[in-house]
Amino acid sequence: MKAVFMLEHGNVDVLQYGNVPEPEIDEDEIKIRVKACGINRLDIFTRAGKRGVKVNFDGPHILGGDVAGDVVEIGKSVENFKIGQRVVVNPRLVCSKCKDCLTGNDESCMRYRMLGTSINGGYAEYTKTHKDNVFEIPDSLSYEGAAALPTVYVPCWNMFKRRAQLKSSETVLIASASSGVGSAAIQFAKFAVGATVIATTSNEFKAQRAKDVGADFVINYNEETIANKVMEVTEGRGADVIFDHVGTDFWNQAIPVLAPRGRYGICGVTSGYKADLQMGTLFMRNQSIFGIHMGKRNDLSEIIRLVGDRVIKPVIHNTFDLESVQLAHDEMDKNEFFGKLIINVP
Ligand SMILES: [Zn+2]
Repeated sequence: MKAVFMLEHGNVDVLQYGNVPEPEIDEDEIKIRVKACGINRLDIFTRAGKRGVKVNFDGPHILGGDVAGDVVEIGKSVENFKIGQRVVVNPRLVCSKCKDCLTGNDESCMRYRMLGTSINGGYAEYTKTHKDNVFEIPDSLSYEGAAALPTVYVPCWNMFKRRAQLKSSETVLIASASSGVGSAAIQFAKFAVGATVIATTSNEFKAQRAKDVGADFVINYNEETIANKVMEVTEGRGADVIFDHVGTDFWNQAIPVLAPRGRYGICGVTSGYKADLQMGTLFMRNQSIFGIHMGKRNDLSEIIRLVGDRVIKPVIHNTFDLESVQLAHDEMDKNEFFGKLIINVP
């Protein structure tokens, strides 16, 4: 099959387009003809071998976790799927054996693997994965739209619904509106919850796009101070929930404007992972700080339902052919996009 693979870590030049053997499935797995694959920051880290992501190269490694496509083969013990079904994959594969998995808390499984990082993924014509990670998509949802969902919307469900329990009467502050997860968080908080959304970004183009996809207020942090604007918008109360996928740079500006009983959720640390915390303020204001990694496996089905009901709409910035994956990685590196970058595999 055609695939983009790598034999070592490095810059975009390590991504090679060529032929590799098709994956072979076990009895509890499903083989998928990939039609679209979302690109995530994790792909860049995995390619470069940064942030603790090291691939054990025992053959060509294929990146890409957010796969959408058609079922082409099902393992012997797989029920409820049929050949030709249109599906999307949750790339976080859990062990199904540990205490967390067995008690319904699979989002806390520490023996998880990520499709495209720990094992071969979707920058290819075919991929395979465990049956429990495969979800049917409605006809109204395109392959591109489906591939834009898993890695960015599953954390939104986990963060806003399960952990922060964000309410429609509350205000949420969302870091870096232009990234895949930032734009997803705006949509989710605004349309799936009905909260007031303040988003931050770096220029006027991105600020306008953030408003287009649902932000009530946008802070251009190159022109105004995040804290001042949040206090102005919330009439001195601060943000009830803060969605941080950026880390140190955002934390320093955001934590001072967390409201009483505020919940500060962290799902990424691209700018750094060390933080100064004023513990006195934390308990005096009854605040909470928590982290999430993706969500439960089945949270993706809730996201598919919301998209099917047209409550939220995936934000796609650009699409690329499989053989042009290097261009897509370059575009992500430049940070001049708003929403998701998607690979098409016709
Ligand atoms: Zn587990």
